[in-house]
Amino acid sequence: MTDTLFSKIIRREIPADIVFENAHVVGFRDINPQAPVHVLFVPRDPVPTLNDLRHDQAELVGQLALAAAQYAREQGFAEAGYRVVINTNAAAGQTVFHIHLHLLAGRTLSWPPG
Ligand code: 5GP
Repeated sequence: MTDTLFSKIIRREIPADIVFENAHVVGFRDINPQAPVHVLFVPRDPVPTLNDLRHDQAELVGQLALAAAQYAREQGFAEAGYRVVINTNAAAGQTVFHIHLHLLAGRTLSWPPG
């Protein structure tokens, strides 16, 4: 199994501000936040990109989405609104090849994005 930067964070080998955790997903603050709230939700299972997701792993992305929505509710900004993003490969600027969902909130998020 490929090791990744995010697996090291999940195993607490690299420090991070972990704000969410359940059996499937770990959430921690992005080191270079693009909004007042910028949390990365990462599956314990290190699938590299969305392109690599198999049908029998469909629940993995559902778990990421549910974790983000739960966090947004618990933090009190679910109704105000937020954005979730999964960057995939070079054109989207993916830099860490362990699938992750960005949760952005706390400011007005323009659409379309730049
Ligand atoms: P990507 O561009 O792959 O979708 O997003 C990777 C994200 O991981 C970036 O927003 C980047 O700031 C964040 N990141 C990279 N290295 C670290 C790290 O060591 N710790 C944390 N907390 N975030 C990181």
